[in-house]
Parts: sequence; structure tokens; C-alpha cells
Amino acid sequence: MKVGFIGLGNMGGPMAANLVAAGHEVTGFDLVAACPDGVSKAETAAAAADGADVVITMLPNGAILRSVAAEVIPAMRKGAVLCDCSTVDVESARAVAEDAKTAGVGALDAPVSGGVGGATNGTLTFMVGGEAGDFATVEPLFAIMGQKAVHCGAAGAGQAAKICNNMILGVTMIATCEAFALADKLGLDRQKMFDVVSTSSGYSWTMNAYCPAPGVGPQSPADNDYKPGFAAELMLKDLRLSQQAAEAADADTPMGQLAAALYTQFVETEDGKGMDFSAMLPRFEKRGRG
Ligand code: NAD
Repeated sequence: MKVGFIGLGNMGGPMAANLVAAGHEVTGFDLVAACPDGVSKAETAAAAADGADVVITMLPNGAILRSVAAEVIPAMRKGAVLCDCSTVDVESARAVAEDAKTAGVGALDAPVSGGVGGATNGTLTFMVGGEAGDFATVEPLFAIMGQKAVHCGAAGAGQAAKICNNMILGVTMIATCEAFALADKLGLDRQKMFDVVSTSSGYSWTMNAYCPAPGVGPQSPADNDYKPGFAAELMLKDLRLSQQAAEAADADTPMGQLAAALYTQFVETEDGKGMDFSAMLPRFEKRGRG
């Protein structure tokens, strides 16, 4: 396939490289990042989209996606598909899909889970919103860049799934960290805490696969001085998206709201910026109740 790829940063770069390695013809554009080997460099986003069967975007946020889409959609041929893999707000995903439809272009919102490691190893999970025909067009590319692609429903459903998943992740990480900090203060050995919880009803991905306590459980950013990993500011971005969506949909999400507030405090007024999101554990360790 002929693929245009816009946004070649930490995630987009290796995703584009995997498409090239699988034999696709990829033309890339990024304001800053260099094109990976084998990706032809375009001078503008529109030039990267020109003549492509599929245009993939991997950008920082919804405002940037909207401005890139406004430039790219008119340059795309009718029947081609614009596939946005960034994590953005549901409204932006739906607005871009609507504009694409008006122009006779297909559109998918296809955010990912799996991080930079998943992007590099081609093991991402894609959660996808949009029409079935467009999903079928892009499916062979999802199969190269990832290990699983779930068609979640109409436009915006992929972002909805991502935002809900990451709201659970943020809340669970906080709960796991505060429980470890409490266990420490109760004199409970961290390894024993892990041994019990990881095989009891408190188990979770954050405890079992991404344990926030150094030296306990499988290797995780906690074992690397809490270098990300998944940065606290990215967690905050996703929690804010969940609260924006909850407000728009009139959904009651008190735990998500509290998690967003705690990560805001951690990133903006404490020392969380640049740390992995599991560095909530040393944060709780330093604090008392008052
Ligand atoms: P990044 O900042 O490394 O990459 C974004 C790229 O977009 C940058 O290279 C930037 O120069 C480029 N860009 C910005 N504006 C542009 C424009 N107008 N035209 C062309 N290029 C432009 O970010 P990333 O870590 O690759 O994340 C990309 C998206 O994936 C985000 O939405 C993020 O939330 C999501 N995501 C990231 C991770 C992760 O672990 N990094 C995991 C899942 C999802």
C-alpha cells in the first residue's frame, strides 16, 4: 500500500519503520522529527497524503490533529482512509471523521496501547472507531504495527475505549501506590505484599505487570529510578481527556476526577514531571496523612 505518515515522534517513527520493513511505500512528514530509514520525506503534510491509500497521523493532541486534518483531507484521493492513531478527545475524533466523510474520504480513530516498546516491536493494540469498510482497508497495516485491533464501533469509539481504559489505569496505579505506602507504614515487607496481592483480589496490571515498588515483581520503571516508561504527564493528559469526556457526556466519575487532580498536583507542583507515572509510590511514601 501507499501510506502517508504524519507525526514521526517516539511512537510514529517506529510504527512507520515497521510498515517500510513489511514492504509498504511510506512517505512521511514531521515538523521536527527525522524520517526513519526507508521513509521518503515530504515537505508538507499535504504532500505526504497526496496519492496515498491510507494516511496515518500520530500527533500530540486534538487541536494539532484538527489542523493537520484540515490540510490533509483536501489532498487525499476519494476513497482513501485517514487513520488517526494519536490519543485525542472524542469530539476532535468525531469532527475529523465528519470532515473526511464530507470530502469523500474514510476516517478511523485508532489510538493505541503498548507504548514505545509496542510501537518498536510491532505489538501495539489498536482500538478503532469508524466504518467497517475503512477498518477492513487499514486492518493489514494494523496487523504489521500491532498484535491486536479491536473495531469498537462508530467514529469516536476508539478514543472512548482508550480514555476509559486509561482512566482505570490511572486510578488503579494510585490505589496500588497508596496501598504499598500504607503497607510500609504498617511494617509489612514489600515482597510479601506483592506475593499476597498479586495472587489475591487486589491484583491488577499495575501490581502484577508494572509493579511500582523497586525490586519487587517483574522489571518495571521502578527498577530504573522511575524513568518513563509511561510518563506522569502523559497519564495526566489521558485523565484530563477522560474528565473532559465525562463532563460532555454528563457521566459521574469521582475516582477519575480525583486521579486527574492528584496527577495534576504531582506533575505541576511536585516532582512528577519527567518521572514515570508509577513514581506516585515515592510521592506517597514522603507524605503523612495531614
Ligand atoms: P511525540 O511528541 O514523540 O511525537 C509527536 C510528533 O508529532 C513529534 O515528532 C512532533 O514534531 C510531531 N508534530 C507535532 N505537530 C505536528 C504537525 N503540525 N505536523 C507534523 N508533525 C507534527 O509523541 P509520541 O510519544 O509519539 O505520542 C504520539 C501520540 O501517541 C500522542 O497522542 C500520545 O498521547 C499517544 N500515545 C503515546 C504513548 C507513549 O508511550 N509515548 C502511548 C500510547 C499513546
